[in-house]
Amino acid sequence: MREIDLHVHTTESDGTKSPAEVVRLAKDLGLRAIAVTDHDTAAGYPAAAAEGERLGVEVVPGIEISTVFSGAVHILGYFIDPQSPEIAPVLEWVLKDRDERNRVIARRMASDGLPVSYDAMRERFGSAIGRPHFAELLVELGLARDVKDAFERFMEKGRRYYEPRHFLSLERSIWIIRRSGGIPVLAHPFQYRLDDSRLRELIEHAVQYGLEGIECRYSGYTPEQTAYLLSLAREYKLLDTGGSDFHGDVKPHIALGTGIGGGLEVPYVCLEKMRERAKNAE
Ligand code: AMP
Ligand code: FE
Ligand code: FE
Ligand code: ZN
Repeated sequence: MREIDLHVHTTESDGTKSPAEVVRLAKDLGLRAIAVTDHDTAAGYPAAAAEGERLGVEVVPGIEISTVFSGAVHILGYFIDPQSPEIAPVLEWVLKDRDERNRVIARRMASDGLPVSYDAMRERFGSAIGRPHFAELLVELGLARDVKDAFERFMEKGRRYYEPRHFLSLERSIWIIRRSGGIPVLAHPFQYRLDDSRLRELIEHAVQYGLEGIECRYSGYTPEQTAYLLSLAREYKLLDTGGSDFHGDVKPHIALGTGIGGGLEVPYVCLEKMRERAKNAE
């Protein structure tokens, strides 16, 4: 049953719908619960929770942290307390690092004669600005067909407007999520292009640092892929979660709750088990 969606972005990071709008959409679609999982920030939760309260949609606080293992690995953190002294300074550092990187990109665009001002971007996009926002501007300026095109020609590594930023390690990310009362979950495991043995290596390593779940259901994953991930979750005694990675209009092929082509189904029991685990950790 299509009941919940545990991977959702809002305007607090690179989604195009505000936290309240996402909750209203969830309500219209008949979803019982969503988790707000913006990149590097939990700032969308209060507004989403208030709207959820009003409409009778459960809203779970979450975050998505980009980490490095051998390559990039994303870790979702559910039920974190963003004010906790374990995670607040770290998130502050991540946003500051983003900010410094973004200023370099904006300056380079401006020096190329593009009408780009970082102050104006901050006003428009908020604090967790990333390459997707620069890509959006390039589309608006007519320099790219769409966000994907803008990435390929300007924002990817090696291109004119790429600038690296620093990442938290996988180990530290998992650890600070745990220490701030949260549940760390490995996001979209097939994104990392690992074969079975490398994926197991990643999971076994992450479990040592406190990983508690695997995102087994995800936009575009086939039933066979999901079954494989569910078997891994069972084998390593991890929670199985799922979500669409909804971003709104910048990724219009991904629908809230149902993913790509309606193929996503996340049962409510996933959230119940996660909530139980969060309670026991308290
Ligand atoms: P940043 O963390 O600011 O460097 O931006 C990374 C984000 O850009 C990722 O989380 C993706 O959402 C997005 N992204 C990366 N590569 C692409 C791509 N080729 N097309 C569209 N979005 C991308
Ligand atoms: Fe994103
Ligand atoms: Fe991700
Ligand atoms: Zn995401």
